[in-house]
Amino acid sequence: MPPLPEVRPDLAALHGYHSPQVDVAVRLNTNEAPAPPPDAWSEALVKELAAVEWNRYPDRAAAELRAAIADHHGVRPDQVFAANGSNECIQALCLAYGGAGRSVALFEPTYPLHSHIARITGTGVLEGGRAPDLSLDPDAAIALIAAGAPALTFLCSPNNPTGMLEAPETVAAVADAAAAAGGLLVVDEAYGQFAPWSALALVDDDRPVVVTRTYSKTWSMAGARLGYLVGPSWLVAELEKVTLPYHLDAVKQIAGRLALRFDAEMRERVAALVEERGRLFAALTDLPVDVWPSAANFVLFRPRTRDGHDVWQGLLDRSVLVRDCSAWPGLDGCLRVTVGTADEDDRFLSALAATLDAGGQP
Ligand SMILES: *Cc1c(COP(=O)(O)O)cnc(C)c1O
Repeated sequence: MPPLPEVRPDLAALHGYHSPQVDVAVRLNTNEAPAPPPDAWSEALVKELAAVEWNRYPDRAAAELRAAIADHHGVRPDQVFAANGSNECIQALCLAYGGAGRSVALFEPTYPLHSHIARITGTGVLEGGRAPDLSLDPDAAIALIAAGAPALTFLCSPNNPTGMLEAPETVAAVADAAAAAGGLLVVDEAYGQFAPWSALALVDDDRPVVVTRTYSKTWSMAGARLGYLVGPSWLVAELEKVTLPYHLDAVKQIAGRLALRFDAEMRERVAALVEERGRLFAALTDLPVDVWPSAANFVLFRPRTRDGHDVWQGLLDRSVLVRDCSAWPGLDGCLRVTVGTADEDDRFLSALAATLDAGGQP
């Protein structure tokens, strides 16, 4: 038999995305919304689906969806690029602006897909770090950008998995540094609606800054796989070159457009989650764990008395799934829990207390 085909050598060392999907009673590992979108949204969707011409390709430009998103943010439709999740936006950015001989800069620990997508598109990765308290030092970030001249710089604010928000001055200074180095700043705002401010105000045709958003978290639509970015119109035009034709199917174009009619309901769900986050945070501080303040719908914590991975397993044994970040660089022993319903969070908290007790004190 001839030898099996060999995968691209730069891919051979990579692993796929790992977040176990196991059947548990309480699933708090992927920052999904605990509640579905409003019934009125499903009803409107079903009604519009009846009129879809299934034998025809969908609108390749997703014009109605983009117009609705543009209207939602007070920008022009040519400043909006929609895709299959904000992950596909990031992929399109890396395909169009990254690639061989180019690099992205990012600051670990952060969302693992930024470096992963960069690598699968053949883009180099310049890894900056964070302070021991996991905050970003703007001067260190600016120095990395000035030295490495990355084609793209990623900030995630609020940052996943720390939950920490960057200050407006930090984002503005990093944007200036990225532009001065001939690059682009990408601000991932998957959790933007949970935060008190947004980098959307920086987006302008004269500034190389884009903001990515998703329907997966605040809009309660992870099942739809839809995200978008807002950025300069010249950039959006380039992204259209690297996207497969008709990549957005008819169903998600309608689903995303209709969702924006329920902005008030989304804000109510977000406000309720923010309140619940406060309760979860306070309850965690009563346990022997270190907790980071969060501006998102999850909380990062580190058990002080037991090994992080053992605690993750202890929770799983009690049918509670959280994200195990304990082996991530800079996050030794840390776990991340999504804010769920009050009932889910109570079940998590009692499972955590029981797990920590079962391990005994040191
Ligand atoms: C969840 C998440 C996303 C969402 O990606 P989608 O592809 O839109 O589901 C993007 N960025 C960050 C930081 C996230 O945590």
